[in-house]
Amino acid sequence: MSNPPTNTKAAANAAPEAVKPSNFLRQIIESDLDKGTYANRRWAGSPGDAAHHAAGQPDPAKIRTRFPPEPNGYLHVGHAKSICINFGLARDYGGVCHLRFDDTNPEKEDTEYVNSIIDAVQWLGFSWSQPGNDAPYQASDYFGFMYRAAEYLIEAGHAYVDEQTAEQMRVNRGDFGKPGVDSPFRSRTPTENLARFREMRDGKHEDGSMVLRARIDMASPNINMRDPAIYRIRRATHHNTGDTWCIYPMYTYAHPIEDALEQITHSICTLEFEDQRPFYDWLMDRLCEGGLLASPPPKQYEFARLNLTYVITSKRKLAQLVYDHRVSGWDDPRMPTIVGLRRRGYTPASLQAFAERIGVTKSDSWIDYSTLEGCLREDLENKAHRGFAVLNPVKLVLTNWAEVFGSDGYLEACTQPALPHSAIAEGQTPPADRVFQIGKEVWIEREDFEEVPPKGYKRLFPGNIVRLKGGYVIECTGCAKDAAGQITEVHAKVIADTKSGTPGADSVKAKAAITWVGVADGVNAEVRLYDRLFSDAQPDAGGKDFIESLNPNSLKVITAIVEPSLANAQPDDKFQFERHGYFVADRLDHQAGKPVFNLAVGLKDSWGK
Ligand code: ATP
Ligand code: MG
Repeated sequence: MSNPPTNTKAAANAAPEAVKPSNFLRQIIESDLDKGTYANRRWAGSPGDAAHHAAGQPDPAKIRTRFPPEPNGYLHVGHAKSICINFGLARDYGGVCHLRFDDTNPEKEDTEYVNSIIDAVQWLGFSWSQPGNDAPYQASDYFGFMYRAAEYLIEAGHAYVDEQTAEQMRVNRGDFGKPGVDSPFRSRTPTENLARFREMRDGKHEDGSMVLRARIDMASPNINMRDPAIYRIRRATHHNTGDTWCIYPMYTYAHPIEDALEQITHSICTLEFEDQRPFYDWLMDRLCEGGLLASPPPKQYEFARLNLTYVITSKRKLAQLVYDHRVSGWDDPRMPTIVGLRRRGYTPASLQAFAERIGVTKSDSWIDYSTLEGCLREDLENKAHRGFAVLNPVKLVLTNWAEVFGSDGYLEACTQPALPHSAIAEGQTPPADRVFQIGKEVWIEREDFEEVPPKGYKRLFPGNIVRLKGGYVIECTGCAKDAAGQITEVHAKVIADTKSGTPGADSVKAKAAITWVGVADGVNAEVRLYDRLFSDAQPDAGGKDFIESLNPNSLKVITAIVEPSLANAQPDDKFQFERHGYFVADRLDHQAGKPVFNLAVGLKDSWGK
């Protein structure tokens, strides 16, 4: 096995199909493949119990992983990491990754969220389809099996119905220093437990009046092994199963069973589930022993969740921002949701590269937001077409235009490459040049003129010679002002025969080249300049109220003037506005003739400043 490269630069510069840096999950999978741990598994084409799979074929998938979101919100950048890990491992090792909705909690699910999750996974570039099997899985389809497994555990003496109050149960569970105390109901016979459990199922008892618990060890040093609850009574209509059930399995019981029915080999989750692993294994062993589940059962592995600076990654807290109208919705471009990042201009490739770059570790850490931005910049650098946009316009008048070109109304076409030479791979045809018109009046950035230039200033000031990029060389002569002293126009003279790309282009030396947009063909565009949503690097760490650190200046909307190639963009097209940064035509609001752009990321990492 190859060693992981120690620096990310080396990895980033490697050939595209180069070996991926290894990590502990890859090592586990490679070792399982070497040993043939899962080589004899069978797969019946759909999830099911031991008998179901025994009747199937040898599993064509070498490994099975899964991404199991709860459909109670929109996915965020942390989920993107998990998606890339699970789908990426399956892809790299000849396996399959299942998309499974973990919808065992009856109250919180919504089809809006289900659809958004499907979209997000597909948009990121992954597929869960297998021959004959296109729909994602739903954990609630397994309620029948989960119930049967619970009856089996009761009959085998591994579970009992507890009628203590929630408070008694809490007290009797003990704590880290104190072993738990057995429930008085712990020694009931299987027959009696089974009768009670069926009464629970049949709606004979109040919500919360009793629970089914695994019978393990009330003195275990791991509190999760002190007879955890596995079923509770909850009268709630479920979006999939309606009112069929008034008892629902607890997550810790349901999840391992979902994995096993789907013949998952490597069940990868975040570190907070580490303490649940002994129960996961206990449950799998009991149900395999009983012949209910196919052997070998899945194994759980934990990795560190993604913590990203200046971002919160909790669906619940993100929901609060939406419902309190702190942002325009789940897809607000400032949101770290996948729909928000997409609308901001992030690409699937940039998010995949990000997941690859941050790697998989077993210790929690914070990733700097600039790492994510760097991945987008790298992806767009050679792909995003260039264009001129003037964000803070002032008019530049070329006062001698008619003398040089014969009339004030004369326009001349200028061209610039859509991509720089360096962005064109060998053998690739460059995209068509951009075309725009220069005339007597053009828009320039206000900051490109100084009446009295500061030291070292190379752009427009009286007497200085500058090139209008792609157009002519000009000599600045002065400016006009309004009564308040505000500059209303900059004046210059165009120098004949100096157009870019003509023989005379180098005849006059220009001190600088500035970007511009013609008054004749420039188009007004709404430009949304985004900044970080929070001003605190760890907005919700240590229980802080993240609302307090919302950045009041996270959105500034301006009217810019853009060249025709930008105005004609399709929604979602990405561009580099030269000198300014990468921008995306807003997916929802941009229209031909009424352009709207979002700032995706600046040209340089200015995060620390
Ligand atoms: P949230 O707290 O935002 O609701 P969750 O973990 O409850 O997150 P689930 O829908 O249960 O959300 O998560 C689906 C999968 O995504 C799980 O396997 C979970 O471990 C993983 N996941 C969630 N958040 C992160 C994160 N920040 N980094 C990496 N993986 C994550
Ligand atoms: Mg959750």
